[in-house]
Amino acid sequence: HRSRRGGGGRPRARAKQAAGREKSARSRRCFERMGKKTGFLTPKAISNRIKAKGLQKLRWYCQMCNKQCRDENGFKCHTMSESHARQMRLFRENSGKYMSYYSDMFKKGFMEVARRRARNRVKANVVYQEYIKDRHHVHMNSTCWETLSSLVVYLSKNGMVDADKTEKGWYIKWKDTDPERMARRAAAERLDKMKMTADAVAERQIQEQVARAHKLAGTDKEANPEGDKKELNRDQKRGELKINIAARKPVERNVTIGSTAVFDNAKGTGKKRKKIQQKKSALEELMEEQEREKKRKKDAARKRPKDIRKENWLFKGLVVKCINKRVGGGAYYKKKGVVKKIHNKFEGEVKMNDSGDVLRLDQEHLETVIPGIGKPVLVLNGSFRGYEAKLLSLDDDPKKDQPTVTVKIAAGDWEGEVVKDVSLEDVCKLK
Ligand SMILES: [Zn+2]
Repeated sequence: HRSRRGGGGRPRARAKQAAGREKSARSRRCFERMGKKTGFLTPKAISNRIKAKGLQKLRWYCQMCNKQCRDENGFKCHTMSESHARQMRLFRENSGKYMSYYSDMFKKGFMEVARRRARNRVKANVVYQEYIKDRHHVHMNSTCWETLSSLVVYLSKNGMVDADKTEKGWYIKWKDTDPERMARRAAAERLDKMKMTADAVAERQIQEQVARAHKLAGTDKEANPEGDKKELNRDQKRGELKINIAARKPVERNVTIGSTAVFDNAKGTGKKRKKIQQKKSALEELMEEQEREKKRKKDAARKRPKDIRKENWLFKGLVVKCINKRVGGGAYYKKKGVVKKIHNKFEGEVKMNDSGDVLRLDQEHLETVIPGIGKPVLVLNGSFRGYEAKLLSLDDDPKKDQPTVTVKIAAGDWEGEVVKDVSLEDVCKLK
């Protein structure tokens, strides 16, 4: 036994050596190719490239530092390094954010490969293997998915792939989720459907006409006066003699000259006309819907005016509050008035509500007044400076330092535009 084993070992070793030689020859060829293509490279650069070519062990990749280590020892050294510790501190402070960032990147990369490779149903693992060929891919262990199956289930749930599980594992098929392409495709499908039903209606009408023509032709031969009369009456009522002439011609001809002439006549009968109108209006509806869609897109793309911020915020007609304790010995403190005139941009002539006194006050001594919901305001700063608006709501988001308001522009080019997160200093009650 021993000798046989020994004997078996040597050829294997020789084969190994041969493979090694083969491998080094291959890498030499690789050297030459690279040299020709890119000009001179330092031996170190070449060796780095060769190393980069092969996929290294995933578990020795540090996602936070984007660093691939070559072996366990290298990875250990890396995890002890100062820079890695810093990165890990960052990660611990905001692990959720990083996790979702990496998950998102992973998903995007995976779907990008799927778009190319999984147009037809393919094993999920094939896509995964292709994705991880890129040395700088996001590694799965830094995403929220623990396994490929959980990722596939997630993608399938979110309508990004069609997935099915077999005993060989998961299979996926890429689905187009680009909203624009989807909308376009849906519209085209609807249009097709409509065309088909319109065609079917027209087809049936033609058939009916042909059948009627057959009948008429038949009645001619069989001399069935009643049927003839009936048809004649109906046609006379419509004041159209044409159909009778056409219908009395040989049947074959009727069919061949046919469809349009007969179809035109079909429009005449009340019931059928109604049908066509219905079809038409459905088609029009579709077109209108497409128009609306276009408009919605245009509106969404409309750029808001430039964010204008100016020092002076006083405007005529504003209701303001005096916040100077010394004016009039404090008599006007926290009292409201209306701005009647503006001097030098920053001074307002304010007629006080209670006393009717007119004071000249710098804007520094005045404060904006926020009216009740639904009341008119003026936007004082920002994209809509100078626009009149309606106060929609007062938003007191605990995450923000200060409450803000939402307003709806009341007039001008931007009428109807809803503006959120407007600071309390940037709107003021209008008289
Ligand atoms: Zn690291």
